Amino acid sequence: MDPNNPGLPVCFRCTAPAVIFQRDSGHHLCGAHLVEDIESRVADLIKTRGMIAPGDRVAVALSGGKDSTALLLLLVSLLPTLHDVKLIAITIDEGIAGYRDATITAAEHLACDLGIEHHCISFPELFGNSLDVFLKGRETQACSICGILRRKALAVGARQVSATKLATGHNLDDEAQSVLMNVFRGDLPRLIRNSGTDSSGKFIPRIKPLSLIPEKEIAVYLMLKNAWKELPECPYTRYALRREVRSVLSNFEYKHPGTMLHLMESREKIEQPCTRPIIASLHSCRECGDPSSSDLCQVCSLLRSLGR
Ligand SMILES: [Zn+2]
Ligand SMILES: [Zn+2]
Repeated sequence: MDPNNPGLPVCFRCTAPAVIFQRDSGHHLCGAHLVEDIESRVADLIKTRGMIAPGDRVAVALSGGKDSTALLLLLVSLLPTLHDVKLIAITIDEGIAGYRDATITAAEHLACDLGIEHHCISFPELFGNSLDVFLKGRETQACSICGILRRKALAVGARQVSATKLATGHNLDDEAQSVLMNVFRGDLPRLIRNSGTDSSGKFIPRIKPLSLIPEKEIAVYLMLKNAWKELPECPYTRYALRREVRSVLSNFEYKHPGTMLHLMESREKIEQPCTRPIIASLHSCRECGDPSSSDLCQVCSLLRSLGR
């Protein structure tokens, strides 16, 4: 307890007032120690998973939203400890009216402030139409259609800037939700592919340095770094299954701290014996040549069904 303000919790490492309570570890932390804690957990994960190696050109998927903003700030702060590594920010403009413009401006400003090279690619440029046009009458499938096209757009962007790694801002909540959603759907291949691990050399490896940091801690981190912005929410999220899973899972995490980390551990345990045969069964898409598990890749078959 803070002696000047009895009743208020203090940091377990120093005596400063706490800004957060980490339910799973049972620790209260002050702002400075939360920042230090997050930076060291991200650095550890990058190191133990071998996410970034000397000489890497890391394309950072920067939507301008909370997670990707935190990701870029964290990677920039870790840059002095990474040898000969270059960061390049990539923003995808899906074409979502009333939502995307504000986040693109935020992304541009952030990259500029941090002195990071920034590239923007749009859906119309790549796929011939904006997401809004593609989704007319298919709004309920918004997140899965957008997800497939955005993944492809990021891969193209990463290739254009000759990146050797592609970093995305998925946090612990996102990843744990994905595990649960893929279990609900019975989609084992996607459960494993989602982790982005790939040693086949066919894809630019995707890395998720924030995948063990809870969403709540990322929000506080941004406030502490003066990088918190109120931005509009994507208008399509109201159709998303993820929304339901998110509320179930955060309830569960609240009652049983550590649930989300346990879901991640489960995925890892399933992943280890399974990854190799699934990667080995990939061949090339007959239209675009990208690695694919069937004759036509997910993107090409989606674009067909969207009538392009
Ligand atoms: Zn402290
Ligand atoms: Zn294809």
